[in-house]
Amino acid sequence: MKAAVFKAAGSPLVLEDVPDPTPEASDLILKVGACGICGTDLHMSENTDPGVGWRVLQPGCVMGHEFAGDVIEVGREAQNRWSRGDRVTALPWIGCGECSDCRAGRGFRCAQGKMRASLDLPGAYAEFCRVGAGEAVRLPDSVSFREGALVEPLAVGLNAVRRAQLRPGDRVLIVGAGPVGLSVALWCRFFGAQHIVVSDLVPARVERSLTLGATAAVDASEGNVREQVADAAGGQPRVVFDCVGMPGSLQLAIDYAPHDARIVVVGLCMAGDHLFPTKALVKELEIIFAFIYRQEDFETVVQLLGQGRIDATPMISDHVDLTAFSDAFEALKQPNRQIKVMLEPN
Ligand SMILES: [Zn+2]
Ligand SMILES: [Zn+2]
Repeated sequence: MKAAVFKAAGSPLVLEDVPDPTPEASDLILKVGACGICGTDLHMSENTDPGVGWRVLQPGCVMGHEFAGDVIEVGREAQNRWSRGDRVTALPWIGCGECSDCRAGRGFRCAQGKMRASLDLPGAYAEFCRVGAGEAVRLPDSVSFREGALVEPLAVGLNAVRRAQLRPGDRVLIVGAGPVGLSVALWCRFFGAQHIVVSDLVPARVERSLTLGATAAVDASEGNVREQVADAAGGQPRVVFDCVGMPGSLQLAIDYAPHDARIVVVGLCMAGDHLFPTKALVKELEIIFAFIYRQEDFETVVQLLGQGRIDATPMISDHVDLTAFSDAFEALKQPNRQIKVMLEPN
């Protein structure tokens, strides 16, 4: 099959013929319908070791963990539940299925688990992809593959907003209007926040947040963000989400937060950061961190998409095929107006 293969840090992915995946007994093989490009993959392709125990990418591996497709092959032990032609999305890992983390739906913590984008579990920047039957989630017919590929980033937002413990009527500020920020905006709306203000330095991105649940968009490149937020929301936010994940972004969230606010850090900052704790201390802020999601969040997103109760399609800003993919991936490393670019390899 054709796949976009990682070669070396900082160099473009290369479209190559690689062996077709084969299923182990409890696996499914998908024909990939759509796979979103994730900011994490862009970070990982730079291959700097953040020193948190993550492996760096091996030359020859294939990334892509936000995907959906048709089942074309079913492993021996999965045939009682799955058939060719089933439409699925899947979690970006294969866990042992037995340990307490796997049973809690957090297979990404499983000591024997495989995370996608390793040599033994390639991702879906390819024509076909292997998934664990236990990690596969059936898509209702009404959910397109493009929407199915949004389940993963939507689950990231759902986990973050669940951890924020919003109350109906809350005012929230979301710093960063990338896919994570937009996903968080959608869930804040769903859970009844009254004022959802999104700030970003890129006006085109922040404008798009208005189609995904934001009640006001703030251009952080102009004027005082705190004043703009107070004007837009009639007061200060009770919850501030850091959806940027760059050195300095948590400090910004602290600076924007009023006394007694809660900060939820969702953006993945892959470098050391420097902040001034006393600024958080004097405000008595509560700072919490949200990472990935539970399998249950993933399944909830699929059900709500199937019921037509959430619509995340405005997150998709472009789509490409495999031949144009490497260039599209490189372009996202430069400042851009894209939100979510979808690969449609077949
Ligand atoms: Zn992702
Ligand atoms: Zn496990």
